[in-house]
Amino acid sequence: MTEKNFQKDIYDLIIVGGGIVGTAILFVASRYANLRRIALFEKNENFAEVNSNRGNNSQTLHTGDIETNYTLEKARQVKAEARLLENYLLRFAPPGAFRKMQKMVLAVGARETEALEKRFEIFKNDYPDLRMLCGREIEVVEPKLIEGRDSGEPLLALAAEGYAVDFGAVAVSFVQQSKQANYPPDIFLNAGISNIKRTDDVYEIKTSRGRFFAKTIVVAAGPQSLVFAKQLGYGKNFGILPVAGNFYGAKNILRGKVYMMQIPGMPFAAIHGDPDINNPSETRFGPTIRVLPVLERHRYRTMKGFLRTSAWNLSGITSLIYITFNPVIFRYALKNLFYDIPFVGKSLFVRWELQKIVPLLRPSDVAFLRGKGGIRPQVVNIEKRELELGEAEIMGKNIIFSVTPSPGASVCLAYAGNAVQKIVDFLGNGAQFDRRSFEKDLA
Ligand SMILES: Cc1cc2nc3c(=O)[nH]c(=O)nc-3n(C[C@H](O)[C@H](O)[C@H](O)COP(=O)(O)OP(=O)(O)OC[C@H]3O[C@@H](n4cnc5c(N)ncnc54)[C@H](O)[C@@H]3O)c2cc1C
Repeated sequence: MTEKNFQKDIYDLIIVGGGIVGTAILFVASRYANLRRIALFEKNENFAEVNSNRGNNSQTLHTGDIETNYTLEKARQVKAEARLLENYLLRFAPPGAFRKMQKMVLAVGARETEALEKRFEIFKNDYPDLRMLCGREIEVVEPKLIEGRDSGEPLLALAAEGYAVDFGAVAVSFVQQSKQANYPPDIFLNAGISNIKRTDDVYEIKTSRGRFFAKTIVVAAGPQSLVFAKQLGYGKNFGILPVAGNFYGAKNILRGKVYMMQIPGMPFAAIHGDPDINNPSETRFGPTIRVLPVLERHRYRTMKGFLRTSAWNLSGITSLIYITFNPVIFRYALKNLFYDIPFVGKSLFVRWELQKIVPLLRPSDVAFLRGKGGIRPQVVNIEKRELELGEAEIMGKNIIFSVTPSPGASVCLAYAGNAVQKIVDFLGNGAQFDRRSFEKDLA
């Protein structure tokens, strides 16, 4: 950590937030742009302790082939963007940060199998490695999906090779790589930003470590980015619907990732099971869906940020209520409420959700993973009373605010490339992003 007093100096770029997105921007800006003065501020003691932490997300490098909530167009985009992170993993990431793992999407019952078969026809040219598997073929790959299942039940799977990723370890590796750049950045941990103010042509940033100045800023603080945007008069029309997700663990059930078919009309990804990246003998199931009025899980102080960004006026509150009472979301969120009932909740979750994946799984096989599971910050368009799917970026004068729900971690390098391009455009005066080298190394 740098201890120098830089208060009189002005940074070219300050990044707020040391999750996978902030650190990816740090890596790209320090390695592929000619900026001399870059700093990153993270409020916690370590990088990636919030949504990018391996315990809080699904650890999947999403590429669009088994995510049945994606259209072909969205899948193609995610595939191209996730390729950058895949190449980074193969080239720069330390051992343990990722693991090759088989993955599949499983369709159960006539309606789902029919839909998956149709999807395969549409997707197969873009994903030539995707294989369609039926009964016995599925059993060879994932025996527990078949054991105890009614043999008359229609079943179909699409399977491929993929990656499990510890996005937190990747964030740390981005920081290590950035320190080897020609102009190593200044990194401040335990340095929360409490206020950003624009004075003349620079921003003044108030942190727990003093005041700092910057010509440009990227706020990559997850849903907290919207708090800063609103502070500066941007993003007035946006709010956040914070959707928490719990995980449950069981021993030695699955060999790879098994995703379920998307519930039609549901904007959040379906439940899945997969081996933990660090402990493959533990199969994790989740995430469940629970709307909570906080911006960070288990940090109830962040309720203030939620109220300020999303529920501070009548139109904000009405749009949240309107979205939550969408029949599909409401029914599913209500069903998920039962899973929180003491003693019986786990049993209901196993019977209503998990036995569709692993028919012989019993409630006693499964334990609640305490303290795991982050918040999916679903961005709400208050005026349209709709969810804005995908990443949300708000642009201000020489400042970018980014809120990145899933698959934000998988596409973080593509996002970082675009953000750094905007930063050098803001700066002008010879500031350059060497996109050719960036793409040569990673694309
Ligand atoms: C249950 C769940 C499952 C998911 N599964 C996947 C998956 O399988 N694959 C995938 O690609 N994506 C997945 N995602 C999404 C992914 O986790 C996020 O897109 C990604 O982690 C976002 O990274 P980030 O850096 O924007 O946010 P974060 O990781 O939340 O980092 C934000 C950082 O900003 C810091 N910060 C906040 N406020 C301040 C402040 N005032 N001052 C200084 N620092 C501050 C925080 O401490 C934090 O370190 C999942 C998310 C959830 C919740």
